[in-house]
This record gives sequence, C-alpha cells and structure tokens, in this order.
Amino acid sequence: MTAVWFAALALLLAGPLPALLARARWTWQVPRAALVLWQAIALGAVLATLGAGLASLSLLFTEEPGFPFLARHGVVQTTLIGLGSALVAVVTVRFWVVATLVGIRTRRRRNRHREMVDLLHRKESTGEVDQALLSQTGVRVLTGPGRVAYCVPGVRSRVVVSDAVLQQLTPEEVRAVLAHERAHLRARHDLVLEGFTALHAAFPRFVSSQAALDSVRLLVEMLADDSARRRTGSAPLARALVALAGQPDASAEMPVGSGALARVRRLSESPPPRGLSLAAYVAAALVLGGPTLAVAVPWLEASYRALTD
Ligand SMILES: [Zn+2]
Repeated sequence: MTAVWFAALALLLAGPLPALLARARWTWQVPRAALVLWQAIALGAVLATLGAGLASLSLLFTEEPGFPFLARHGVVQTTLIGLGSALVAVVTVRFWVVATLVGIRTRRRRNRHREMVDLLHRKESTGEVDQALLSQTGVRVLTGPGRVAYCVPGVRSRVVVSDAVLQQLTPEEVRAVLAHERAHLRARHDLVLEGFTALHAAFPRFVSSQAALDSVRLLVEMLADDSARRRTGSAPLARALVALAGQPDASAEMPVGSGALARVRRLSESPPPRGLSLAAYVAAALVLGGPTLAVAVPWLEASYRALTD
C-alpha cells in the first residue's frame, strides 16, 4: 500500500499541485516564500518517486524467497508494481544524466558568452554614469542599437548592458537595472533555475508542466526586483522595466525585461498581508515533512510493538 500511496503523492506533486500553484497570483506578493514552496514541492516529488520505487521493490523481494508476491497478488498487480519500479528507475537515472548534461552545457555556454562580452566590451566612457559604471568590476558595456541588460552568472560573473541603455535610461534607472542583475548573481538564482530545468526535463512530459518552470522564472525576477527596489526605490525600477520590456535577447538566461507587465504592476501594490509568507513556509514544511512522517510513524509504531511484545 505504501508504494501506491507514494506513487499517488509523486504524481500529485509533479502534476496538479504545480499547475495550481503556477496559476496562483498570491505568490507574486511573497516571491521568496513562494520559491521555497516550489522547491519543497519539487524535492517532495523526487522523494515520493524514490519512495514509491523502494517500497515496491521491497514488496517484491522481502516477503519470502522466490516470488511469493506473484503467488499472493496475481499477475496484474505484480506487473503494475514492476512497471512502477522500472518507471522510477528511469526517472531517477534520467534526472541525474539530464542534471549533469544541463550543468556541463550551461557552464560551457556561459564561458563562451563571458569571453565574448569581455572582447566586445567598450572601455572608453562617454558620460558621467558611464564613468562610474565602467569603474565597477564585472560590468561590460556593449555597443549596439538594442536596449539590453542581463547577467552572465558563475564564479567570474558579468553584468552586461548595452550603451543604448546607458544613453536612454536615467542614472537612477541604470542603477536599478544593475541592482537587479547583481541580486541575481549574489543569490545565485541561476542555480535555482538550473535545478528546476533539470527536473522539468527528467519527469515524463504528461506530469511536468512548462507553466511551472515559467512561474519559477518569473518569481526569480520578482525576487531580484525586490532587492533592487530596496536600494533604488520602486519608481526608477518600474520605469526601467517598461523601457526594457519586449527587448528580446536570446543569449541571456535571465533578461531583465521578461514578464515586465506583471512585475511593474506589483511594484505599485501595497505590502502583502501579514502571515502570507509564513503560511507558504508552513505549506512547504508540510509538503516535505508530511510524506516522511507518513512513512516514519507506522514504522516507529511497528518497531515499538516488536520491541514491547
Ligand atoms: Zn532578472
């Protein structure tokens, strides 16, 4: 029964629950707590999948030597359990292979990208903002017509802006954009996204939703916005987001203009109701702790009975 319970939980945590959370708008008010809840759901899905696999395997092999499970439960149930175990094994192996490949490819692409922006960096300054900006380490200015701002995460990270951004945005707005990008780099938001990308790729298509990944990406942007608005205020950041919205840049992992409309709107909203983030943290603890307790409590009870008999 434990195997079926875990399998149902894994499906719930990988499919309907993320779809529900991706549609929720309260998460925008408390992006940090919402991201913790997202991580708890993702980790819970992985643990429940592993739990289902281990529980079904133990059913097949622990009762008595030979195939007593087959004799007792029949062909259909045994086949289902066997298929379930195989699926779990495939998902687990796929996850580690995909995570490794995503990691290698991402780092390789970033190294190339960093070398490129270092080469294209315009060193001479043309204005006051420019001068202050160019003196900061890790900032690279590209010459071109488009308004572009993004970061290249990693150990030797870079913040990249085009000179169109420097010319068309006010110094305050430029500072807001830089604060946003630095927040991504400081908190290593790229690693959070990398984990979700690997999970999304590892789970079968019918349970892993693109909406969940998009929702997590938007929350990461909102988290960086919150960090930037604490430094520069909401108004310059909102103006910068409007100016940079819809500027496509395929090479950037976290382009500053993505999901701009929702992000600008929330910058003018009042603070979230008290207790909302606490509720999200409690939900995260329940998602992770619930399944563990469901397994541990009956096991402890059985052990206790065995010891006291
Ligand atoms: Zn961003």
